[in-house]
Amino acid sequence: MNWVTRSYRNLLVTTMMGLVALLGVPMFLYVTIAYTQQQVEDRGQILYHLANTAAIAISENLRERSREVELLARSPLYVNADFSSAEFRASLERLQQSYPYYSWIGLTDINGVVQAATGGLLAGQSVAQRPWFQEAKKGLYVGDLHEAKLLANLLPSLSNQVGPIRFIDFAVQVENAQGQPRGVLGVHAHWGWSEDLLELITPQDADDEQVEFFIVNGEEEIIFPDSPSQHDSLRVPVVKEGDAVRYASWGSDVRYLTSAVAVNSPDSTVPLNWKVMVRQPESKVLEHARGLQKAILTVFGVGLVLFLILAWLLSRQLGRPIQQLTHIAQAIAQGKPARFNLTLHTAEMRALNQALQEMASRLLQNQHELEAAARELESKVEQRTQELAEANTKLAAQARSDVLTGLPNRLAANEFLEHEFHNLKRGREPYSIVMFDIDYFKKVNDTYGHAVGDQVLQHVGRILAESVRENDFVGRMGGEEFVAVLPLTPLSDALRVAEKIRVRVDAAALEPVGSISISAGVAVAHAGQASADEAVIQADAMLYEAKRAGRNRVMPEAP
Ligand code: GH3
Ligand code: MG
Ligand code: MG
Repeated sequence: MNWVTRSYRNLLVTTMMGLVALLGVPMFLYVTIAYTQQQVEDRGQILYHLANTAAIAISENLRERSREVELLARSPLYVNADFSSAEFRASLERLQQSYPYYSWIGLTDINGVVQAATGGLLAGQSVAQRPWFQEAKKGLYVGDLHEAKLLANLLPSLSNQVGPIRFIDFAVQVENAQGQPRGVLGVHAHWGWSEDLLELITPQDADDEQVEFFIVNGEEEIIFPDSPSQHDSLRVPVVKEGDAVRYASWGSDVRYLTSAVAVNSPDSTVPLNWKVMVRQPESKVLEHARGLQKAILTVFGVGLVLFLILAWLLSRQLGRPIQQLTHIAQAIAQGKPARFNLTLHTAEMRALNQALQEMASRLLQNQHELEAAARELESKVEQRTQELAEANTKLAAQARSDVLTGLPNRLAANEFLEHEFHNLKRGREPYSIVMFDIDYFKKVNDTYGHAVGDQVLQHVGRILAESVRENDFVGRMGGEEFVAVLPLTPLSDALRVAEKIRVRVDAAALEPVGSISISAGVAVAHAGQASADEAVIQADAMLYEAKRAGRNRVMPEAP
């Protein structure tokens, strides 16, 4: 079955849905594929830029600190001064105050015993086993981040910090004017600077955007943010230099767009393999694209509903007048009166209505004309039928009449006989038949011509007709033969009638022929006979007898 009926409504609904799909699908696909990809790329660039800026800032800061320490160690004060003097100690304190993150500055002798230190901390103690002391003998040393509990406890301003306190060390050997080692200048910088530094770089909306900074050391450990306990669940992803931005899982279900940039290590005996990593959760990266997708879905969803309503209204507007006109057309088809009182809003519909109206009135007119024609035809047929009946009656009369004598003919005689025989059979009295034949008639024709012969026939016919009763029948059987049928008449009466007629004919001479004679044969019909013909045959036989006996006589002879 064709489940979609072709109607205006379905057509419009399908068209509207098609339009919405035609506009919506490409736009949705664009946002899903192209725009999303663009968004990821843009975000990646921003993250990379942030990571790069941070890496440069960190590297510059480290370089600055290490240069400072290096220059200081070469300054005349350090080359010549007495390390245990109060003046020297005061210079250390001044240095510490020059940079807020310098937590501890100390100077050891060549054996690693602290000679002077800020706040007098660790003074007199040996740091010979510390990496910074050992590495400084080889050159400028910038040490990786490390915890220093002892020092942390000694520093009153830091002792209330939650969690371990970590420092980064700068150390360089101090030499005398002859270039011989005098000791080691060591600086412990509090790691807090990293946070302050990154805070300067971090964009203001970083929290909203969930952008996070990480500093990772050569062992792939997170050293910033400075809260190691929180990093246990984090697994630093491998992001190669080649693809500085990519999605990574960081050990959880959430995917992060991640960018990594290596921090240039300052000149140090042991290079720092640090890198800055910046990440943003995928949901945040795609937030805008997803929002746009949602907006498109909403707009097109609402659009679809509106379009469907519009289609429905339109189809009503278009379909209703068609339906109404259809009803009118059906009414016309069924011969009912059609009312064209529609309110139509379109030119096409009005034109259709007009055409239909004209067609209906033309149909009505044709119908009236047809009805009139039919009536006329009917009356004509009636008239013709009547005429035909009259003609038939006339024809029937003609068919039963002899043209020459005006008497009934053989057909009429046979019908009268059949009728009488029928009555006889139903118990009526017998009837008699008399057959007449003009004697020597051929001679009349031969002698005087046919016209005179015809006059003789008319003459005899007239005498016959005048000689019988009203109920009797006289007809011409053909040629010069006549018949008389006499109802309710026995043979004796019939013989008398026949004789009377014979005498009359004989007596009535006709010029130029003169006297004319006839012979007659009489028979009586009775109920015992098989048909009407039987009596006729008998009468004929009697006529033959009369001819044979000399003519001008009636047979049988009266008793
Ligand atoms: P019969 O005495 O034995 O009757 O001899 P007939 O001459 O009268 O008889 P037949 O049968 O020999 O001749 C009848 C003639 O009647 C022959 C025919 O030409 C003529 N006849 C028949 N019908 C008509 C008619 O309508 N008009 C005229 N003029 N002659 C007729
Ligand atoms: Mg004859
Ligand atoms: Mg004859």
